[in-house]
Amino acid sequence: MNLDLLGWSDDLALSLAPFAAQSLQVGRVARQHKQLYTLYTEGGEFAAEISGKFRYQVQRTEDLPCVGDWVVIAATGQTANIQHLLPRHTLFSRKVAGATTDIQLIAANLDSVFLVCGLDDDFNLRRIERYLVMIWESGARPIIVLNKVDIGEQIEQRLLDLEAIAVGIPIVQISALHDQGLDALNPWLQPGQTVALVGSSGVGKSTLTNQLVGEQVQAVQAVRADDSRGRHTTTSRQLICLPSGAILIDTPGLRELQLWTAQTGVSTAFNEIEALAGHCRFRDCQHQQEPGCAVQAALGNGQLEIQRLQSYQKLRKEKAYLHRKQDQKAQINTKARWKQITKSMRQRDKWQ
Ligand code: GDP
Ligand code: ZN
Repeated sequence: MNLDLLGWSDDLALSLAPFAAQSLQVGRVARQHKQLYTLYTEGGEFAAEISGKFRYQVQRTEDLPCVGDWVVIAATGQTANIQHLLPRHTLFSRKVAGATTDIQLIAANLDSVFLVCGLDDDFNLRRIERYLVMIWESGARPIIVLNKVDIGEQIEQRLLDLEAIAVGIPIVQISALHDQGLDALNPWLQPGQTVALVGSSGVGKSTLTNQLVGEQVQAVQAVRADDSRGRHTTTSRQLICLPSGAILIDTPGLRELQLWTAQTGVSTAFNEIEALAGHCRFRDCQHQQEPGCAVQAALGNGQLEIQRLQSYQKLRKEKAYLHRKQDQKAQINTKARWKQITKSMRQRDKWQ
Protein backbone atom coordinates (compact mmCIF):
# COMPACT_ATOMS: atom_id res chain seq x y z
CA MET A 1 0.00 0.00 0.00
CA ASN A 2 1.29 3.40 -1.02
CA LEU A 3 1.01 6.12 1.64
CA ASP A 4 -0.13 8.68 -0.95
CA LEU A 5 -3.11 6.47 -1.71
CA LEU A 6 -4.03 6.69 1.96
CA GLY A 7 -3.93 10.49 1.98
CA TRP A 8 -0.36 11.18 3.10
CA SER A 9 0.60 14.85 2.71
CA ASP A 10 3.62 17.17 2.87
CA ASP A 11 2.35 18.60 6.17
CA LEU A 12 2.30 15.12 7.65
CA ALA A 13 5.79 14.44 6.35
CA LEU A 14 6.97 17.58 8.17
CA SER A 15 5.34 16.50 11.41
CA LEU A 16 7.12 13.19 11.12
CA ALA A 17 10.56 14.82 11.07
CA PRO A 18 11.20 14.51 14.83
CA PHE A 19 10.83 10.73 14.56
CA ALA A 20 12.92 10.31 11.41
CA ALA A 21 16.04 9.25 13.30
CA GLN A 22 14.25 6.35 14.96
CA SER A 23 13.35 3.44 12.76
CA LEU A 24 9.63 4.02 13.04
CA GLN A 25 6.88 3.66 10.46
CA VAL A 26 3.60 5.48 9.92
CA GLY A 27 0.13 4.11 9.47
CA ARG A 28 -3.41 5.35 9.11
CA VAL A 29 -6.09 4.09 11.48
CA ALA A 30 -8.61 2.13 9.41
CA ARG A 31 -10.64 0.70 12.25
CA GLN A 32 -10.88 0.91 15.99
CA HIS A 33 -12.44 -1.43 18.44
CA LYS A 34 -11.87 -0.15 21.95
CA GLN A 35 -8.10 -0.47 22.54
CA LEU A 36 -7.49 -2.41 19.34
CA TYR A 37 -6.64 -0.63 16.13
CA THR A 38 -6.31 -1.77 12.54
CA LEU A 39 -3.77 0.25 10.59
CA TYR A 40 -3.02 0.57 6.89
CA THR A 41 0.68 1.09 6.28
CA GLU A 42 3.18 0.80 3.46
CA GLY A 43 3.86 -2.70 4.77
CA GLY A 44 0.20 -3.69 4.61
CA GLU A 45 -2.39 -4.11 7.33
CA PHE A 46 -1.37 -4.19 10.98
CA ALA A 47 -3.16 -4.91 14.19
CA ALA A 48 -2.00 -2.35 16.72
CA GLU A 49 -2.23 -1.29 20.31
CA ILE A 50 -1.14 1.84 22.07
CA SER A 51 2.24 1.59 23.72
CA GLY A 52 2.31 1.85 27.49
CA LYS A 53 4.44 4.97 27.34
CA PHE A 54 2.08 6.71 24.94
CA ARG A 55 -0.94 5.83 27.06
CA TYR A 56 0.85 7.17 30.11
CA GLN A 57 1.55 10.47 28.35
CA VAL A 58 -2.00 10.97 27.10
CA GLN A 59 -3.84 13.53 29.21
CA ARG A 60 -7.08 13.88 27.30
CA THR A 61 -9.33 11.58 25.28
CA GLU A 62 -8.74 13.84 22.26
CA ASP A 63 -5.09 12.83 22.23
CA LEU A 64 -5.89 9.18 21.54
CA PRO A 65 -6.05 7.99 17.93
CA CYS A 66 -9.32 7.34 16.11
CA VAL A 67 -10.30 6.27 12.60
CA GLY A 68 -8.60 8.47 10.01
CA ASP A 69 -5.69 9.40 12.24
CA TRP A 70 -2.06 9.03 11.28
CA VAL A 71 0.13 7.37 13.87
CA VAL A 72 3.80 6.57 14.32
CA ILE A 73 4.38 2.89 15.03
CA ALA A 74 7.02 0.38 15.90
CA ALA A 75 6.16 -2.80 14.05
CA THR A 76 7.20 -6.36 14.71
CA GLY A 77 5.74 -9.11 12.55
CA GLN A 78 2.13 -8.25 11.83
CA THR A 79 1.50 -6.41 15.08
CA ALA A 80 2.41 -2.85 15.86
CA ASN A 81 2.77 -0.55 18.81
CA ILE A 82 1.38 2.96 18.45
CA GLN A 83 3.95 5.40 19.80
CA HIS A 84 2.73 8.82 18.66
CA LEU A 85 -0.26 10.55 17.15
CA LEU A 86 0.53 12.92 14.29
CA PRO A 87 -1.29 16.29 14.30
CA ARG A 88 -4.75 16.15 12.71
CA HIS A 89 -6.26 18.92 10.65
CA THR A 90 -9.91 18.11 11.28
CA LEU A 91 -11.75 16.07 13.89
CA PHE A 92 -15.30 14.82 14.21
CA SER A 93 -16.00 14.36 17.88
CA ARG A 94 -19.03 14.34 20.06
CA LYS A 95 -19.33 15.78 23.50
CA VAL A 96 -21.28 13.45 25.71
CA ALA A 97 -22.69 14.36 29.08
CA GLY A 98 -21.86 11.07 30.71
CA ALA A 99 -20.20 9.82 33.84
CA THR A 100 -17.04 8.34 32.36
CA THR A 101 -16.23 10.01 29.06
CA ASP A 102 -16.82 13.57 28.07
CA ILE A 103 -15.77 13.34 24.46
CA GLN A 104 -16.19 10.63 21.88
CA LEU A 105 -13.89 10.68 18.87
CA ILE A 106 -15.58 9.76 15.62
CA ALA A 107 -13.18 10.38 12.73
CA ALA A 108 -10.11 12.46 12.05
CA ASN A 109 -8.58 14.16 9.02
CA LEU A 110 -11.69 14.41 6.87
CA ASP A 111 -11.29 16.97 4.11
CA SER A 112 -14.89 17.05 2.93
CA VAL A 113 -18.17 15.73 4.22
CA PHE A 114 -21.08 14.95 1.93
CA LEU A 115 -24.26 15.79 3.80
CA VAL A 116 -26.71 13.48 2.06
CA CYS A 117 -30.38 14.46 2.12
CA GLY A 118 -33.32 12.83 0.40
CA LEU A 119 -35.40 14.99 -1.93
CA ASP A 120 -38.39 12.85 -1.05
CA ASP A 121 -40.44 13.56 2.05
CA ASP A 122 -37.32 13.12 4.19
CA PHE A 123 -36.21 16.64 3.26
CA ASN A 124 -35.89 18.74 6.41
CA LEU A 125 -34.18 22.13 6.58
CA ARG A 126 -33.85 22.11 10.35
CA ARG A 127 -32.07 18.77 10.29
CA ILE A 128 -29.74 20.02 7.57
CA GLU A 129 -28.87 22.98 9.79
CA ARG A 130 -27.93 20.66 12.61
CA TYR A 131 -25.71 18.55 10.41
CA LEU A 132 -24.04 21.65 9.01
CA VAL A 133 -23.20 22.77 12.53
CA MET A 134 -21.50 19.45 13.19
CA ILE A 135 -19.53 19.58 9.98
CA TRP A 136 -18.35 23.17 10.50
CA GLU A 137 -17.29 22.28 13.99
CA SER A 138 -15.15 19.40 12.71
CA GLY A 139 -13.21 21.71 10.43
CA ALA A 140 -14.12 19.74 7.30
CA ARG A 141 -15.80 21.31 4.28
CA PRO A 142 -19.51 20.53 3.89
CA ILE A 143 -21.10 19.67 0.54
CA ILE A 144 -24.85 19.20 0.42
CA VAL A 145 -25.81 16.20 -1.68
CA LEU A 146 -29.49 16.13 -2.57
CA ASN A 147 -30.23 12.54 -3.46
CA LYS A 148 -33.23 10.89 -5.12
CA VAL A 149 -33.80 13.64 -7.72
CA ASP A 150 -35.63 10.96 -9.71
CA ILE A 151 -38.47 10.98 -7.19
CA GLY A 152 -37.83 14.48 -5.81
CA GLU A 153 -40.69 16.75 -4.90
CA GLN A 154 -40.79 20.58 -4.92
CA ILE A 155 -37.16 20.61 -5.99
CA GLU A 156 -36.99 24.26 -7.02
CA GLN A 157 -38.61 25.59 -3.85
CA ARG A 158 -36.39 23.39 -1.71
CA LEU A 159 -33.28 24.63 -3.46
CA LEU A 160 -34.31 28.22 -2.76
CA ASP A 161 -34.96 27.45 0.92
CA LEU A 162 -31.66 25.63 1.16
CA GLU A 163 -29.61 28.36 -0.47
CA ALA A 164 -30.92 30.78 2.14
CA ILE A 165 -29.57 28.74 5.05
CA ALA A 166 -26.46 27.29 3.41
CA VAL A 167 -24.84 30.36 1.90
CA GLY A 168 -21.70 29.49 -0.03
CA ILE A 169 -22.00 25.73 0.46
CA PRO A 170 -21.90 23.65 -2.73
CA ILE A 171 -25.21 21.91 -3.44
CA VAL A 172 -25.25 18.90 -5.75
CA GLN A 173 -28.30 17.01 -7.02
CA ILE A 174 -27.92 13.33 -7.76
CA SER A 175 -29.66 10.04 -8.01
CA ALA A 176 -27.39 7.49 -6.39
CA LEU A 177 -29.69 4.66 -7.40
CA HIS A 178 -29.65 5.61 -11.09
CA ASP A 179 -26.02 6.76 -11.08
CA GLN A 180 -27.03 10.26 -12.19
CA GLY A 181 -25.08 13.43 -11.48
CA LEU A 182 -22.32 11.74 -9.48
CA ASP A 183 -19.64 13.42 -11.62
CA ALA A 184 -20.46 16.67 -9.85
CA LEU A 185 -18.84 15.16 -6.73
CA ASN A 186 -15.47 14.77 -8.46
CA PRO A 187 -13.89 18.00 -7.15
CA TRP A 188 -13.94 16.52 -3.65
CA LEU A 189 -12.91 13.03 -4.67
CA GLN A 190 -9.44 13.83 -5.94
CA PRO A 191 -6.53 11.49 -5.11
CA GLY A 192 -5.51 11.70 -1.47
CA GLN A 193 -8.67 13.53 -0.38
CA THR A 194 -10.56 12.06 2.56
CA VAL A 195 -14.35 12.22 2.52
CA ALA A 196 -17.27 10.91 4.54
CA LEU A 197 -21.02 10.68 4.09
CA VAL A 198 -23.42 11.74 6.81
CA GLY A 199 -27.18 12.00 6.82
CA SER A 200 -30.21 10.31 8.27
CA SER A 201 -31.01 6.68 7.76
CA GLY A 202 -32.59 5.91 4.40
CA VAL A 203 -31.27 8.91 2.45
CA GLY A 204 -29.08 6.68 0.26
CA LYS A 205 -25.64 6.76 1.87
CA SER A 206 -25.01 3.04 1.25
CA THR A 207 -26.29 3.28 -2.31
CA LEU A 208 -23.96 6.21 -2.97
CA THR A 209 -21.04 4.43 -1.28
CA ASN A 210 -21.53 1.40 -3.49
CA GLN A 211 -21.65 3.62 -6.60
CA LEU A 212 -18.45 5.41 -5.60
CA VAL A 213 -16.67 2.15 -4.88
CA GLY A 214 -18.05 0.50 -7.99
CA GLU A 215 -19.12 -2.61 -6.13
CA GLN A 216 -21.40 -3.63 -3.32
CA VAL A 217 -19.55 -2.87 -0.10
CA GLN A 218 -22.38 -1.61 2.08
CA ALA A 219 -25.74 -3.28 2.40
CA VAL A 220 -28.56 -1.14 1.08
CA GLN A 221 -31.66 -0.97 3.22
CA ALA A 222 -34.47 -3.19 2.15
CA VAL A 223 -37.14 -1.26 0.27
CA ARG A 224 -39.75 -2.61 2.63
CA ALA A 225 -39.51 -0.56 5.79
CA ASP A 226 -41.04 -3.39 7.83
CA ASP A 227 -38.40 -5.95 6.85
CA SER A 228 -38.02 -7.60 10.24
CA ARG A 229 -34.60 -9.01 9.43
CA GLY A 230 -33.30 -5.48 9.38
CA ARG A 231 -30.24 -4.59 7.41
CA HIS A 232 -27.00 -6.49 7.25
CA THR A 233 -24.37 -4.54 9.04
CA THR A 234 -21.38 -5.24 6.83
CA THR A 235 -19.76 -2.07 8.04
CA SER A 236 -16.42 -3.77 8.54
CA ARG A 237 -14.68 -1.63 5.95
CA GLN A 238 -14.41 1.77 7.53
CA LEU A 239 -11.62 3.26 5.47
CA ILE A 240 -12.12 2.57 1.79
CA CYS A 241 -9.77 3.55 -1.03
CA LEU A 242 -12.01 4.64 -3.90
CA PRO A 243 -11.14 4.10 -7.58
CA SER A 244 -10.93 7.92 -7.94
CA GLY A 245 -7.98 7.92 -5.51
CA ALA A 246 -9.99 9.48 -2.69
CA ILE A 247 -10.41 7.83 0.69
CA LEU A 248 -13.89 7.27 2.07
CA ILE A 249 -14.40 6.95 5.81
CA ASP A 250 -17.57 5.17 6.84
CA THR A 251 -17.78 4.44 10.55
CA PRO A 252 -20.79 3.57 12.69
CA GLY A 253 -20.14 6.80 14.60
CA LEU A 254 -20.59 8.89 11.47
CA ARG A 255 -23.67 6.92 10.47
CA GLU A 256 -25.29 7.39 13.83
CA LEU A 257 -24.35 11.02 14.03
CA GLN A 258 -27.42 12.78 15.26
CA LEU A 259 -27.42 15.40 17.90
CA TRP A 260 -24.49 17.69 17.93
CA THR A 261 -23.26 20.50 19.99
CA ALA A 262 -20.78 22.97 18.78
CA GLN A 263 -18.66 25.85 19.83
CA THR A 264 -17.65 27.63 16.68
CA GLY A 265 -20.03 25.50 14.63
CA VAL A 266 -23.20 27.18 15.84
CA SER A 267 -21.83 30.62 15.04
CA THR A 268 -20.69 29.62 11.56
CA ALA A 269 -23.92 27.87 10.68
CA PHE A 270 -26.00 30.75 11.96
CA ASN A 271 -23.65 33.58 11.11
CA GLU A 272 -26.42 35.87 9.85
CA ILE A 273 -28.08 35.69 13.30
CA GLU A 274 -24.79 36.31 15.08
CA ALA A 275 -24.23 39.28 12.77
CA LEU A 276 -27.67 40.66 13.64
CA ALA A 277 -27.01 40.08 17.34
CA GLY A 278 -23.98 42.32 17.02
CA HIS A 279 -26.40 45.20 16.42
CA CYS A 280 -28.58 44.58 19.49
CA ARG A 281 -28.50 47.38 22.01
CA PHE A 282 -27.47 45.13 24.89
CA ARG A 283 -24.44 42.91 24.62
CA ASP A 284 -26.08 40.08 26.54
CA CYS A 285 -29.37 40.43 24.62
CA GLN A 286 -31.38 37.20 24.68
CA HIS A 287 -33.42 38.40 21.69
CA GLN A 288 -36.69 38.07 23.58
CA GLN A 289 -38.38 41.34 24.59
CA GLU A 290 -35.34 43.56 24.99
CA PRO A 291 -35.53 47.07 23.55
CA GLY A 292 -33.29 47.67 20.56
CA CYS A 293 -33.06 43.99 19.64
CA ALA A 294 -31.87 43.68 16.04
CA VAL A 295 -32.85 40.01 15.85
CA GLN A 296 -36.46 40.73 16.79
CA ALA A 297 -36.45 43.59 14.29
CA ALA A 298 -35.29 41.23 11.54
CA LEU A 299 -38.09 38.83 12.49
CA GLY A 300 -40.54 41.72 12.28
CA ASN A 301 -39.54 42.81 8.80
CA GLY A 302 -39.33 39.27 7.43
CA GLN A 303 -35.55 39.26 7.04
CA LEU A 304 -35.27 36.34 9.46
CA GLU A 305 -37.55 33.33 9.81
CA ILE A 306 -38.88 32.36 13.22
CA GLN A 307 -38.03 28.64 12.67
CA ARG A 308 -34.43 29.54 12.01
CA LEU A 309 -34.18 31.60 15.19
CA GLN A 310 -35.79 28.73 17.11
CA SER A 311 -33.25 26.15 15.92
CA TYR A 312 -30.46 28.57 16.74
CA GLN A 313 -31.77 29.04 20.27
CA LYS A 314 -32.35 25.33 20.73
CA LEU A 315 -28.77 24.49 19.74
CA ARG A 316 -27.43 27.19 22.01
CA LYS A 317 -29.40 25.74 24.91
CA GLU A 318 -28.04 22.25 24.28
CA LYS A 319 -24.56 23.63 24.12
CA ALA A 320 -24.98 25.51 27.39
CA TYR A 321 -26.35 22.36 29.03
CA LEU A 322 -23.34 20.29 28.02
CA HIS A 323 -20.97 23.01 29.14
CA ARG A 324 -22.60 23.06 32.56
CA LYS A 325 -22.27 19.26 32.79
CA GLN A 326 -18.62 19.48 31.88
CA ASP A 327 -18.00 22.27 34.37
CA GLN A 328 -19.57 20.15 37.09
CA LYS A 329 -17.34 17.27 36.16
CA ALA A 330 -14.27 19.46 36.12
CA GLN A 331 -15.19 20.75 39.59
CA ILE A 332 -15.57 17.24 40.91
CA ASN A 333 -12.21 16.29 39.43
CA THR A 334 -10.56 19.32 40.99
CA LYS A 335 -12.10 18.50 44.36
CA ALA A 336 -10.90 14.91 44.13
CA ARG A 337 -7.41 16.04 43.22
CA TRP A 338 -7.22 18.46 46.12
CA LYS A 339 -8.43 15.79 48.46
CA GLN A 340 -5.62 13.55 47.21
CA ILE A 341 -3.03 16.31 47.56
CA THR A 342 -4.03 17.29 51.08
CA LYS A 343 -4.07 13.63 52.04
CA SER A 344 -0.51 13.05 50.82
CA MET A 345 0.62 16.30 52.46
CA ARG A 346 -0.80 15.14 55.76
CA GLN A 347 0.97 11.82 55.39
CA ARG A 348 4.23 13.57 54.65
CA ASP A 349 3.77 15.73 57.75
CA LYS A 350 3.30 12.57 59.80
CA TRP A 351 6.54 11.08 58.47
CA GLN A 352 8.61 14.17 59.13
P1 GDP B 1 -28.79 4.77 3.94
O1 GDP B 1 -29.56 4.35 5.13
O2 GDP B 1 -28.58 6.26 3.94
O3 GDP B 1 -27.52 4.02 3.74
O4 GDP B 1 -29.74 4.51 2.65
P2 GDP B 1 -29.68 3.33 1.60
O5 GDP B 1 -28.56 3.50 0.64
O6 GDP B 1 -29.77 2.03 2.32
O7 GDP B 1 -31.01 3.62 0.75
C1 GDP B 1 -32.31 3.62 1.31
C2 GDP B 1 -33.34 3.37 0.22
O8 GDP B 1 -33.36 4.45 -0.70
C3 GDP B 1 -33.05 2.12 -0.60
O9 GDP B 1 -34.26 1.48 -0.86
C4 GDP B 1 -32.44 2.67 -1.87
O10 GDP B 1 -32.64 1.84 -2.98
C5 GDP B 1 -33.19 3.97 -2.03
N1 GDP B 1 -32.45 4.96 -2.83
C6 GDP B 1 -31.15 5.32 -2.70
N2 GDP B 1 -30.81 6.25 -3.63
C7 GDP B 1 -31.92 6.47 -4.37
C8 GDP B 1 -32.22 7.32 -5.51
O11 GDP B 1 -31.38 8.04 -6.04
N3 GDP B 1 -33.49 7.28 -5.97
C9 GDP B 1 -34.44 6.47 -5.43
N4 GDP B 1 -35.66 6.51 -5.97
N5 GDP B 1 -34.21 5.67 -4.39
C10 GDP B 1 -32.97 5.65 -3.86
ZN1 ZN C 1 -31.27 40.88 20.52
